[in-house]
Amino acid sequence: MSAPPSEAGSHHPPTLTAHLRATTGVNVAACYQCGKCSAGCPMAVETALRPHDVMRLAASEQRERLLAAESLWLCLTCEACTARCPNGCDPARVIDALREEAAHQAPRAIGAFHRSFLDQIRAFGRSFELGLVMTYKLRSGKLTQDVTTAPGLLGRGKLKLVPHPIAGVSDVRRIFRACEKEEA
Ligand code: SF4
Ligand code: SF4
Repeated sequence: MSAPPSEAGSHHPPTLTAHLRATTGVNVAACYQCGKCSAGCPMAVETALRPHDVMRLAASEQRERLLAAESLWLCLTCEACTARCPNGCDPARVIDALREEAAHQAPRAIGAFHRSFLDQIRAFGRSFELGLVMTYKLRSGKLTQDVTTAPGLLGRGKLKLVPHPIAGVSDVRRIFRACEKEEA
């Protein structure tokens, strides 16, 4: 997906809270730090920043710290945090928006993986690992990294040679097109 929109010729709107409001509709300042989102997050034990931390840092304009956080990439987008929020704050959507922005600033490999994963979802409605590996390698330039593990994975049936799109893949593609139209 494309870079965040610019305002008045600058790459970002003036504040992170304004940027998130514009791209997600979420007012991060409305979060009252009750922690219910983090209490239900399956990744909370693995991440330095839990969803309520992300909301607090976003509300206090900690853009650089957030965009550099590994925690963004560990989020499963399961939306448990959003479902538990009594305040309609939607931390999952905020994390996704931050991840999207970080992908444009991240080291080449992280951005390449993010875009390659989205390619698979768009094409098949689910991750097709072999396609993901191939597109990631082409984008990142890491053509020979881990190449010796592929035959073993193929032999054990861990990597499928042919993708199996989900039944509703046309709906998934329609969602991608609608998102791109909105961002254009
Ligand atoms: S559940 Fe909602 S209001 Fe509570 S900390 Fe999380 S985002 Fe903020
Ligand atoms: S969407 Fe991400 S932050 Fe929210 S509960 Fe799931 S893993 Fe945790």
